[in-house]
Amino acid sequence: MAKKTIKDVDLKDKKVLVRVDFNVPLKDGVITNDNRIVAALPTIKYVIENGGKAILFSHLGRVKTEEDKAGKSLKPVAERLGELLGKPVAFVSETRGTELETAVNNMKDGDVLVFENTRFEDVDGKKESGNDAELGKYWASLGDVFVNDAFGTAHRAHASNVGIASTGIPTVAGFLMEKEIKFVGEAVTAPKRPFVAILGGAKVSDKIGVIENLISKADKILIGGGMTYTFYKAKGMNIGKSLVEEDKVELAKELIEKAGDKLILPIDSITAAEFSNDVPTEEHTGDVPDGQMGLDIGPESIALFAQALEGAKTVVWNGPMGVFEMSNFANGTIGVCEAIANLADATTIIGGGDSAAAAIQLGFADKFTHISTGGGASLELLEGKELPGLAAINDK
Ligand code: ADP
Ligand code: MG
Repeated sequence: MAKKTIKDVDLKDKKVLVRVDFNVPLKDGVITNDNRIVAALPTIKYVIENGGKAILFSHLGRVKTEEDKAGKSLKPVAERLGELLGKPVAFVSETRGTELETAVNNMKDGDVLVFENTRFEDVDGKKESGNDAELGKYWASLGDVFVNDAFGTAHRAHASNVGIASTGIPTVAGFLMEKEIKFVGEAVTAPKRPFVAILGGAKVSDKIGVIENLISKADKILIGGGMTYTFYKAKGMNIGKSLVEEDKVELAKELIEKAGDKLILPIDSITAAEFSNDVPTEEHTGDVPDGQMGLDIGPESIALFAQALEGAKTVVWNGPMGVFEMSNFANGTIGVCEAIANLADATTIIGGGDSAAAAIQLGFADKFTHISTGGGASLELLEGKELPGLAAINDK
């Protein structure tokens, strides 16, 4: 995917529109995690260091009604950004209008401005989320060049990404977007082999697209998590009270047949009688007995997966191996994290919100080559889908 990046355009004296992902968690107006602001800094700094005027915008949370706007202003984000950059950041509390236009026109080279939550435009007729052409055109009119650095929304066609780009304004990827395309995108389009995918999480239905796409691309697909038991059922095994999607059993049969030796299922489970960390656990090879539910992969499976990972040059991991949120059922996910951490010379990627959270919570964050910042967007890339936000960036 050869897309133009911010390095391919001249920024000097230019009004640079930058769609960032500032969708940070807020509690009572206070930012509880500023990772996303930090992740946008390389692009913002590059704009100002190269003499551009950085006009930043993002969505924040879900806004459908006037009441939803409360607590969703980007103002605290602009303040935090100012602290991180060590320079003043102007904030304009509207998404269009004379105040915004005047502020933009008064900017000097190297200035930074943030305008209000793009989803405030959804209150009056879903203009942002509905990719209203007039809104995209208006935002595009404020700048000379458009940098899209919001990977997390690249799977959506909104006015603030696709809308602006479709006006024909020069559109390039920011550094974060570039990194995501490089790691997540290339893993599925041009992986170094052997390429091993590890798929887990709760449901088969969430991951069907990924499994189907990776069957033809990966050398091995390791399955864990709750979806294991839909596959077990497809094989005629006993699954006790484990999570199962009855309407996906037939599909699981087809996937097993299609994938052949590539598909590797767990061989044992850690089970309990309840979905709880406070009841005794049991270890079972193969079938899960009646009255028990499988909540993690067992030690034999961890060993099997570690062996399957040996020598891998590309690893994509999406979905925890068990209910890692409870300590009794975290070992499978820890074991897989360890096996991946021990690989020499491999590109290792996490795509998936909960898997990323698990790796960070369990202390493995620095052991991976890349942890994707976009749950939904990375899932769609792994499914082999074209992301509209990405497609709208100019080709090299
Ligand atoms: P991701 O966000 O990484 O794509 P998912 O959202 O698909 O991952 O799945 C994450 C959830 O799956 C976790 O909350 C975890 O507790 C749950 N899970 C994992 N294994 C099981 C299991 N055996 N039974 C029930 N839930 C499970
Ligand atoms: Mg999830």
